[in-house]
Amino acid sequence: YQSLCNMETIYADRVAIRYYDEAKQGVTEVYYRQYAQDLRRFVSFLRSKAGDVKGQRVAILARNSYHYVICMYGTMLAGGVAVPLNMGKNWDEIQYELDLVEPVCVLQDGEYLQWEPALADAYSAKLEPMDAFTAFAPAQDVKEVEDLAAMAFIMFTSGTTGRSKGVMLSQKNLFAAMPAFLNPFDDVRKATGWDTDKFCSLSALPMFHISAMTSLVSWSITGHCINLCNDLKYFYRDIGAMHSEVMAVVPVLLKSLYKDVMKGRRDRLNGLCVLTCGAAMFDPQMLKDLMDKGFFIAQMYGMTETCGDGAWNSSQEEKHLTSVGHVDNSCEYKLDDGELCMRGTPIMLGYYKDPEATAEVIDKDGWFHTGDIARLEEDSYMYLTGRKKNLIILDSGENITPEELEGLVEKCPAVQECVVKEMGKKIGTVVYCPQDKQQTVQEHITEMNRTLPLYKRIGVVEFSAEPLPRNATGKLLR
Ligand code: ATP
Ligand code: MG
Repeated sequence: YQSLCNMETIYADRVAIRYYDEAKQGVTEVYYRQYAQDLRRFVSFLRSKAGDVKGQRVAILARNSYHYVICMYGTMLAGGVAVPLNMGKNWDEIQYELDLVEPVCVLQDGEYLQWEPALADAYSAKLEPMDAFTAFAPAQDVKEVEDLAAMAFIMFTSGTTGRSKGVMLSQKNLFAAMPAFLNPFDDVRKATGWDTDKFCSLSALPMFHISAMTSLVSWSITGHCINLCNDLKYFYRDIGAMHSEVMAVVPVLLKSLYKDVMKGRRDRLNGLCVLTCGAAMFDPQMLKDLMDKGFFIAQMYGMTETCGDGAWNSSQEEKHLTSVGHVDNSCEYKLDDGELCMRGTPIMLGYYKDPEATAEVIDKDGWFHTGDIARLEEDSYMYLTGRKKNLIILDSGENITPEELEGLVEKCPAVQECVVKEMGKKIGTVVYCPQDKQQTVQEHITEMNRTLPLYKRIGVVEFSAEPLPRNATGKLLR
């Protein structure tokens, strides 16, 4: 609510959001004054459809857009619970999530309906086009939400280790997580002298992902400009049309930028100079090469359950390339048998309608067990070594971290990607590489095995003719 007031006063004449408008074949700029008006309009619309939405869920199933931002932010402002859903999921999964959260309204942009008419059959009475608010007069009586610690949105985890879980988060969680998204820019300013206050951020990651959500809110609350990219297939058109200094990337996206930069086509990136990298591990060589080309790289580590908070690394030193940096000081942290545990204000309220799953990850002392295995170096830089759920526990009692072996297999330049897992009673790997390189890869693995203790050796090698399956943020689905 306070941010709405700022939008109408101190930020009113600044550009809040830009996007490429298909209809007019050009860029539309929305000023903060308009942004606030539209948020108030949305509140009128929501009340007219669903009355007092306090605590009620409002689902959003759409591609990124300005309307999406209004629906998500506006639902929270009205005291409701925004539930952004992943458009890439199949109907069974979407139906499960909708049935779980029992929304009073499903805001959508028509696209999912085209693929899955089942959505209309199941939810016809609740479907609303997400631009419906534009026909309403702005609500004048928007007030501060009484309980900032109440649930404000539910976000589903990426589903990397199983079915996605519905994470309940509050406005208080969100505010507590903001510094982790904003502080790295202080480091950028100190290290480079760039005026980060004037920076615009290109937002291309899907908004049902926690980092997109938290960074959007962080940038809006601090009066920055966000350039929206609705779909990565329009990335070059959008970055070409909207000068952006900052962008949040996941590994697949970084790979494609990297290729351009290395081919000397940096001009296509129109001023982009800060990359915030998160969601999974990055190829350190790629990070180093980009730094050498003048990019400032900030690595971010976080998860849905911590509202995106976690750690960040803005050291541009080579020795820290593979580190996720220091844990943000909004949380206490400890390593419990190698597993990173965090405690503090950003930690979620729990998993929606699942107290057992919540109790499995948040212990009686309030420590959230992240499931990530980490190592701390003497200079207090943290390194992730793998995920607890991926650990292969042998009958002999030894543990194998598959991520470690994957790193070794991927040292062979012919390997495009690979996964290491238990195959039968053996440690096996599935490798994606060009067909004529299979022999080379076999030889590399044989050679590699010689250097490893017996229990870690790879006994089965299979090849995949296609890239390995990944989810929306590019995480490997093992
Ligand atoms: P699920 O919990 O459903 O299995 P998920 O954990 O992948 O899926 P998210 O909450 O989106 O869902 O992702 C958080 C996880 O992503 C972290 O626990 C960590 O394993 C990984 N991660 C996040 N940032 C980084 C990073 N910078 N480097 C490496 N891994 C990261
Ligand atoms: Mg997780």
